[in-house]
Amino acid sequence: MPKSIKNQKGLRILVFHGITVDDPHKFNSRFISKQLFEQLVLLLKQHCNLISFTDLLEKNISSSKLNVLITFDDGYKNNFDYAFPFLVKHNVPAIFFVTTRHTSQLHYLFNDIVDISPVYGKEKVLVNNEEFYRKKIFLNYRYVNKSNEQLAKKYHHARLKSRNGVLEQLWTTNSSAAYKSNTCFFELMTDSMIKTLSENKLFTIGSHTKNHLSLATLNRDELEEEIIDSINHLKHVTGQTEIPFAFPYGEYSEEVLNVCLKHQIKNLFGTELLLNESHKNVIENRFQINPFITPILQLHYVAKGKYE
Ligand SMILES: [Zn+2]
Repeated sequence: MPKSIKNQKGLRILVFHGITVDDPHKFNSRFISKQLFEQLVLLLKQHCNLISFTDLLEKNISSSKLNVLITFDDGYKNNFDYAFPFLVKHNVPAIFFVTTRHTSQLHYLFNDIVDISPVYGKEKVLVNNEEFYRKKIFLNYRYVNKSNEQLAKKYHHARLKSRNGVLEQLWTTNSSAAYKSNTCFFELMTDSMIKTLSENKLFTIGSHTKNHLSLATLNRDELEEEIIDSINHLKHVTGQTEIPFAFPYGEYSEEVLNVCLKHQIKNLFGTELLLNESHKNVIENRFQINPFITPILQLHYVAKGKYE
């Protein structure tokens, strides 16, 4: 056992994304293997006090051990298939922050399709009259333009309509067979799966907006739609009166906080990217899991709360 965990106290909120039995690093670094995930959860259970969202609200936390709250972002169906039964079996609580994009026509997330497309897609694609080329960057293929800018980065702050346009163009570029054999990397949970999760006392459903846009650049009306619509939908599906909220990419603005304040959305979760030190009091900071390291090393970094 790493020494670092032994005397560690306080709270660490962890962020997982996808879980897969396939090669987790096939398209990006948001997936962890099912085996590694299970080993890590068991280690955390052994050395930490695993808490639920309700424990956090009621301050029902240990003063002698490090408290850990497990969260999942993006609402992948693989969370339901792999994490859900394992967590139930071992009595481990969690929050699932889901988008409500599964209810729309293009029911998959922008980044997933942008990551999968160049692996199977053409050498050159035309997106909004701009050419993008396949290029291997670190472990994965990406589409980049003439100035070497990645497609995902170029459209990071784009509005919904523009991003959906990109998705439609990429979706038709690939043969559907390429997507069909990789559904684990982009398929999202349905309302009925979300409801099933929420019915278990261990789990809480949180909102991760409607379309997973970067909230930092959206105006008031767009923010209301992205945040409030998704929260209302999830309240309706789960019957939960409290829906915690996590910012996509950990990005937000003062305007985002104003919208949340206005609608009494109190339980906000971010990542390390705070705009202002004082926001520590309103945003719960979360620690990202690294899918490339061993469970014992991950436990060490969880205890430290930083990767250094
Ligand atoms: Zn996300």
